[in-house]
Amino acid sequence: MIFHQKQWQFFRKTAELGKMPHALLFYGQSSTNKNSLALEIVKLLNCEKENFNDRPCQTCRACRDIKKNIHPDLFIITPQENKEIVISQIRGLQSSLFLKAYSAPYKAVIINQAHFLNQDAQSAFLKLLEEPKGKTIFILITEYPEMLLPTIISRVEKFRIYDTSIKKQSSPRQKKLVSELVNIAKQDLFLRFKYAKTLAEEPQELKEVLDVWLGYFRELLLESINDKPVIYPMIKLKKILKTLQTTDFLLSTTSVNPRLALEILMLEL
Ligand SMILES: [Zn+2]
Repeated sequence: MIFHQKQWQFFRKTAELGKMPHALLFYGQSSTNKNSLALEIVKLLNCEKENFNDRPCQTCRACRDIKKNIHPDLFIITPQENKEIVISQIRGLQSSLFLKAYSAPYKAVIINQAHFLNQDAQSAFLKLLEEPKGKTIFILITEYPEMLLPTIISRVEKFRIYDTSIKKQSSPRQKKLVSELVNIAKQDLFLRFKYAKTLAEEPQELKEVLDVWLGYFRELLLESINDKPVIYPMIKLKKILKTLQTTDFLLSTTSVNPRLALEILMLEL
């Protein structure tokens, strides 16, 4: 994961001291990985390792379920197809939060693209924020914090999440994904589409794959900005990044056919 190290250390410390704020707002450019940071914080709070130094371990049941977005105490709200987060989505949360946590110390609510909360949904959400139930953390993620009610803004701790050029520690799996990508980019369209088909068969993994690729191309872009020789011209890098972001967005918020979305991406490489 690429995070701003100082911010990450801050959240680690806060979690360890049991002082994590009740509601966080992450804002900043779309290219920053606010969402991964939110998930890592939820892992940090709910990881099964006793010792905080070992958290998030990435391997316990809680860490794995959070990563796959299937943890019973993690609620992720994303805009519907019409690009709105509606009141029924927030009401659904209300009843879930009222129940006792299944297994985790913390219930967590992540609202992606929170600027798409419509007026009614924002009012309903404000009520949720005002009546904390047990150990619950709310994380709002947006590029446009000014679209949120000032009453919401005043009740959340705000963090600007910056793009970071700190080199990440790549895991063997991340390295494998990047080398697959580098290889496939050299192949003809037939093989690329075949690869898209294989990827689309594992929709659970897709988000991770796209995240790793986004990270890789962002780094290339940074290097190219710093005048280092890179295999793609900057214009092309920007185009690939944009397609990757669109693919990521489409796959996470709509029911677009993953194979089709990936084929479009493969055309760009
Ligand atoms: Zn863990």
